[in-house]
Formats: sequence, C-alpha cells, structure tokens
Amino acid sequence: MSSAPIYADAVAGLLLVCAATAALAWDPIGHETVGAIADQLIAGTNSETQVRKILGTSLRASAVWADCAKGVEKKGARFSYTATGKRRECQAFETSVGKAEMANFVRRNWDNCAPLPDEDRCHKQYHYTDVSNLRNHYAKGLAGTSNHDIVSAISAAVAVLQGKPAPAPFRINSEKEALRLLAHYLGDIHQPLHVVAIYLDRDGNTVDPDAGTFDRSTATRGGNEILDGSDSLHFEWDHVSWDVSADRLNEEILSDARQIAAAHGSVSNWPTRWATDTLLAAKPAFKDLTFSPEDTEHHHWLVTLPDGYSDTRASVQRRQLIKAGARLAQILRAIWP
Ligand SMILES: [Zn+2]
Repeated sequence: MSSAPIYADAVAGLLLVCAATAALAWDPIGHETVGAIADQLIAGTNSETQVRKILGTSLRASAVWADCAKGVEKKGARFSYTATGKRRECQAFETSVGKAEMANFVRRNWDNCAPLPDEDRCHKQYHYTDVSNLRNHYAKGLAGTSNHDIVSAISAAVAVLQGKPAPAPFRINSEKEALRLLAHYLGDIHQPLHVVAIYLDRDGNTVDPDAGTFDRSTATRGGNEILDGSDSLHFEWDHVSWDVSADRLNEEILSDARQIAAAHGSVSNWPTRWATDTLLAAKPAFKDLTFSPEDTEHHHWLVTLPDGYSDTRASVQRRQLIKAGARLAQILRAIWP
C-alpha cells in the first residue's frame, strides 16, 4: 500500500497511488472527481454555505469517507479502525476523533440489516445494488435489490439532511455523516457495476434471476467473481481513466456537467431514476462478453472481452462521473435552495 503525497500533481505519482490502492467502488480518484465537480457547480450558492458548515471541508475530500470507513474491523465486541497509513485519501480522517467517527458508524451499521452469511456487512451493502443486466428499470423486489441497497441508502442520507430520521434499517446519526455518505453514494450509483450485475450459470450462460426460482449461486457480485486475466471485471470498471480526474478538471468537463438536466418531481424519486439511468448506460458493459464455465472451487468465471472494450469503458466512465458530479450538485441545490 502506498502513502504517496496527497493530490500529487505528477501523473506518475497518481498512477503509483492508484496501482497500490485496493478496488472499493470507483477508485478514490473517481470519488474525488465526483466531489470536485459538485464543489465547482455549487460554488457561490446557499448549498455551498451549508455543505461547508456541515463538513468543514470540501465534497471532494469527503466523498471517499464511506470507503475509508471500510478500514474498521470488529474484534470481539470492539470496533476499531485498522488501516492507518494505508490509503493516502483517508489520512485526513485518521485523527483520534476521525477514527472514532468511522468506528461508530460501522458499529451502528454492522448487522442492522440482518445480513445472510454470504452477504457483506450492512454498511458495505449500502454501496451497491445488483439488478440483472436484462432489466431496463430499477424496481424494489427485483433480484439483487433490498431495503438497504444504494438506492435506499441515498434516500436515507437525503432524509437526514432534510431533518427527518433515517428510515430503518439505516443508522445515520448526524448531518455530517449523512452528507459524507451522500457524496460517496452519488458516485457509486453511477458506477455501472455497482448497479448492474450479470447472473451466470455453471456453463457461463447468462441467466435471468427474476424468472423462476432465484439460484443464489448464479450471482457474480457486481462482477467481482468475473476475471479478466488477474483483474476482476468490477475492478476494471472502478479504475478511472486519466482524461477526467479531480486534479484535471477543465472547463470542458464542467461545461458538460452543467448540461446534465436535473430530474423533475420529488427528490425522493431521484435515486430510483438514477439507478434506471445507470442500468441503461451500463448496457455496453455486458455487450458481446463471453464467459468460461464456472471455476466452482473458487466461484469465478473467466471473461473474454470484445475488441475496443477498454475504449468503450473509458467513455462510459467519463460520462458517468460527470453525471454523478452534476447530480450531487443538483440534489444539494434541491435540499438547500
Ligand atoms: Zn463505495
């Protein structure tokens, strides 16, 4: 793990950091980019005033907090942050107060959703949903959705920022925590493989998890169980290309972000619409992919990607990061006009 300088300007430095960072949702550069775009788009508004008052820092710096909190582990009855010095983007949270905040959040959001033995702890489940790539709309009740998936998690964070209690099972105890989470989840809901999942049988054929009886063994966990060489498909989608990043925001990117149309209607419906939008935007992620039979010992499949896939991926990623930054700004403007 690297402890390279924060926000190093040199691309070489950034590459070093990136190569050494484990995949947890968009990589930190991706989340920082989303936060940085939103910081720019709310500059000079009442929402910027409220955001600064609550966070004491930028959205860019705060957008990685929910991934940093994954460095909290449970030993016996005790929760403690065990990743000090391992991730440069988490350094700002590694004070004694900051570590206690992360441990406290994870303790409250550990088993409150009653996770099954093969499922992630609750706070980790808040980062994604796993709707089949065969669907064109997000809806509760579909395989891979839950009342504590990313769509519900965004709604919960928004509720707290609107002065309402967090709906069960979420346990969010302050506006600061809610805003940190919101800044992160807006990024994740735009990462195609945090919303869309392909379900595969043992022969590597796509199956429909919403038809007939759902077979849990067909889940690929957001592409984490699909390998392209030694990297998972999920990792490859988390990893952000260099033409758009927090250190390299330019007027073209901000101009594209300003042109993303705001959703109409009640803010409470926006997360569902965004998930549906990502389902549609993610279609190229699964187009013309072929899979090996399952390696049942390790529960994974090997993928063969079509020609030009990495270019397609980079262009979808760029568009999704820009949408995420724009929509983070839009929802903050809606909460604090
Ligand atoms: Zn995440």
